[in-house]
Amino acid sequence: MTWRATVLTLFPEMFPGPLGISLAGRALAAGLWGLEARDIRDSATDRHRSVDDTPAGGGPGMVLRADVLAAAIDAVDGADRPRLVMSPRGRPLTQARVAELAAGPGPLIVCGRFEGIDQRVIDARGLEEVSIGDYVLSGGEIAAMALIDACVRLLPGVMGRLESSTEESFSAGLLEYPQYTRPQIFEDRPIPEVLTSGDHAKVAAWRQAEAEALTRARRPDLWALRPAQITGPKSESRKTPKNKTDG
Ligand code: SAM
Repeated sequence: MTWRATVLTLFPEMFPGPLGISLAGRALAAGLWGLEARDIRDSATDRHRSVDDTPAGGGPGMVLRADVLAAAIDAVDGADRPRLVMSPRGRPLTQARVAELAAGPGPLIVCGRFEGIDQRVIDARGLEEVSIGDYVLSGGEIAAMALIDACVRLLPGVMGRLESSTEESFSAGLLEYPQYTRPQIFEDRPIPEVLTSGDHAKVAAWRQAEAEALTRARRPDLWALRPAQITGPKSESRKTPKNKTDG
């Protein structure tokens, strides 16, 4: 069955948005994945079609109602699909979780707005809270798009070459090595000589060393997750095996 994302949002007109362009957009048009954006407001029951109310206990802003959102979730088919809610309080999204989601049937994704969502619907419907970073967006739609885009590029047939995803940042628990292309010299900066040597083994070793150095310098948290035998000072220069650790 085709992988599909179902998004519950107050702004369905935001979709497909950037997901309708370039790689994801071509794959969408080709039927390699599916996207359905549903309006949460369609599940409102009063004549004003209200979806939110003031926070219990007081405070600023409005909160999405549990009953309206539960009805919207229950109207979506596919009980076996992962049910996510985009939230700055959620577990940070990783490439490992993206790969799991891409390998499944495709998620249902709830997009919050206002101050957030009534906790009871998160608990009652077992929603997995997912964050895309330690900052606050005004709504979950852009976060959902980021998650969907990351999944779609891993779907079979979407990317041209398999290597494109297996060598890039996070796939081997490392950041990616630097990339270069023509011209050979840009503002007195030549392409590193090894990359034009034609020696594939040397190129691979250089890339591995660069990836390790970048990861150590920029993401000590990721580096620390690598297996103990390759993080010790004695073995730092050794060529390391790839692993599936991700952060
Ligand atoms: N009051 C909430 C808090 O402090 O945690 C923030 C609510 S935010 C203004 C509205 C919605 O944007 C959230 O319910 C969530 O769906 C989405 N959102 C904001 N930042 C996000 C992030 N970093 N990752 C994922 N979703 C986010």
